[in-house]
Amino acid sequence: MDLCNISVIRELMADAGISFRKEFGQNFLINRIIPEDIADNCADTADTMILEIGPGIGCLTGELAVRFKRVVAVEIDNGLIPILGKTMAEYDNVTVINNDIMKVDLKALVDEYSEGMPVAVCANLPYYITTPILMRLLESGVKFTSITIMIQNEVAQRLVAKPGSSDYGAITAVLGYYGEARRLFKVSKGCFTPMPKVDSAVVRIDLYREPKYTPKSEALMRDCIRGAFEMRRKTLHNALGSKLGGYTKDEILSAIRATGHPDDVRGERLSTEDFVKLADALFDMKNR
Ligand code: SAM
Repeated sequence: MDLCNISVIRELMADAGISFRKEFGQNFLINRIIPEDIADNCADTADTMILEIGPGIGCLTGELAVRFKRVVAVEIDNGLIPILGKTMAEYDNVTVINNDIMKVDLKALVDEYSEGMPVAVCANLPYYITTPILMRLLESGVKFTSITIMIQNEVAQRLVAKPGSSDYGAITAVLGYYGEARRLFKVSKGCFTPMPKVDSAVVRIDLYREPKYTPKSEALMRDCIRGAFEMRRKTLHNALGSKLGGYTKDEILSAIRATGHPDDVRGERLSTEDFVKLADALFDMKNR
């Protein structure tokens, strides 16, 4: 069964008595090369468990199932579960869980299904909740080897942006704390049904096996990043001066100098490493 064929998709959904649910960001792939390419690029060894988010009717799930040892797919829409029961029946290594990925205990799920295998995430993510899902995965404490996601092209550009560019933002700097992102390929909006308004892109994030940065206070580093980008037009010391409780503007300025940046630098110039150094300098001021 070609699960990227638009007539097959319509028939499966009609038989199940359901239609596309916009509130769940349902745009299904209708170009079969795309799920093949995503599955080819989402993990390096077959002996991997893949956590898929939002299998839909299973077009990507099937491609993952033939390449990897185990696939656990979490789908929020209970109307799709009977369809997945049919379309995934031929694979004995696929488990479908009917739940909201924002509510799943990721550590418990990985412990239950991975049997010590490396675990990678692969998903054509619903647009409405891309960043919260990504942050949840990153902050879960689960040692995913990589996260490969199809997202809006615009968001993809933000994830891979370099400091100083207009796309660089808080999410880029935070992501850099966990791993390295690269944009694999662009996917035109015509590859989906219903057709979304914008193009997408696939991004793969390779997570650091061991932490690359060890800030003295992770919370302070996050506050610095958040503060810097909430007011990105302001110089960093002004932006942080009004956002970072407990520090005077002079203290912030001296911490900025300690990172080797000029007094009038804006936050968008700082790399993840710079934010770590800045937070450490601020931390040291109060914890000598
Ligand atoms: N994987 C399919 C494909 O590529 O054609 C469908 C992708 S569609 C963009 C997003 C999928 O995520 C839908 O099946 C939707 O129901 C599901 N979804 C949306 N929100 C979710 C959530 N919070 N947890 C789990 N699945 C979710």
